[in-house]
Amino acid sequence: MDIVVQKYGGTSVATLDKIKDIARRLKERKEKGDKLVVVVSAMGKTTDDLLDMAYRLSRNPKPRELDVLMSTGEQVSIALLSIALNEIGCKARSFTGHQVGILTEGFHTKSKITDINADIILEELDKDNIVIVAGFQGINENNEITTLGRGGSDTTAVALAAKLGAVCEIYTDVDGIYTTDPRRYPEARKLDSISYEEMLEMASLGAGVMHSRAIEIGQKYGVPIYVALNTGDVPGTYIKESDEKMEKTVITGLAVDSNDVMITINNLPYSIKAISDVFNSLAEKHINIDMISQTTPVNNLINLSFTLPKNDMNTALKTLKDMKKSIGDYKIETDEAITKLSVVGIGMRTQSGVAARMFSVLAQNDINIKIITTSEIRISCAIDPEDQDKAVTAIAKEFNL
Ligand code: ADP
Ligand code: ASP
Ligand code: MG
Repeated sequence: MDIVVQKYGGTSVATLDKIKDIARRLKERKEKGDKLVVVVSAMGKTTDDLLDMAYRLSRNPKPRELDVLMSTGEQVSIALLSIALNEIGCKARSFTGHQVGILTEGFHTKSKITDINADIILEELDKDNIVIVAGFQGINENNEITTLGRGGSDTTAVALAAKLGAVCEIYTDVDGIYTTDPRRYPEARKLDSISYEEMLEMASLGAGVMHSRAIEIGQKYGVPIYVALNTGDVPGTYIKESDEKMEKTVITGLAVDSNDVMITINNLPYSIKAISDVFNSLAEKHINIDMISQTTPVNNLINLSFTLPKNDMNTALKTLKDMKKSIGDYKIETDEAITKLSVVGIGMRTQSGVAARMFSVLAQNDINIKIITTSEIRISCAIDPEDQDKAVTAIAKEFNL
């Protein structure tokens, strides 16, 4: 008998009727003989609503308290799903992250899973229960409730599958992984499969369909991940190791991210010490920097631009202002009007000219680029959000996405 880990996201458990539908599906699947571990997210927009309340009370709520607050969302949905299953005669028990020993480390609101106590889950499965686990949460070495970053229930599911040697099925409100977000570009194509590596880039670059840490864990432990519509009626997408066919495709997908801002430090002293001080102090605050560019020195001064998540902007600005005393009197500018577009594909390793094609298309459409970065399998550029739709359509057409 195989263990299967399934995960249902917020939209999939948004109403009691949807929870009842999922309970019926789980009952059928169990009757076919699978042992089921089910991870659920908070209902609908619950997490946003909880955060909204916190920020109405304070501009700077403590991350610890945000974790205590946000984790309540998932606790509601696990209990309701378990109740719905029991009601239709299907044995099920719900568990918080703490109860199944989901251990985490790191910063509150951005914690990482380090281990899970599989014995508790295996015992429950042996008792013929469907085990329902709260996504997105864990407990750290100080016995504090932690959360895994927005969208983190995917990570709970993949980490559980890794620990239990199971396959992982992610059920959501879209019927698979598309070449680009089908809500932004309806002509996007659904992929039968995508490599871990490409999905990791896409997820880190804003394709919100999967939490990037889930893909990292999936790749590390070789967990087969299947992403599909919550009704299970239509074939979805497999996330797996790359194969020859995948390597032939130059561009697999386009990720669009409107959640970043760009900070420019003007007149920074031209010294590696100043640059390293800037990035070290941001790293100490757990701020993730993505794109970086530097101008050539004039009078021994440079301008340094970089992008970071909008949520971290206030902390970054405060950190940079505090550093002026030690580095010099630079001027800080912020640009909140950026959209980051990234083309991703493992075929880029062997085929040249992708950047040229991307920039030509943007030039033909009069779209200016604010900052660029590349890696072996991606090219990202930040543009004005007003140009976003035009740019997505033009790039998607150029690369046949
Ligand atoms: P869940 O609540 O189930 O976790 P999410 O909202 O986190 O669901 O993720 C599903 C959404 O991801 C879709 O509704 C879709 O708009 C968005 N999305 C972004 N990029 C892609 C992509 N490349 N393929 C499919 N969906 C995408
Ligand atoms: N409920 C959490 C969020 O909205 C986790 C998740 O949905 O995966 O971010
Ligand atoms: Mg999600």
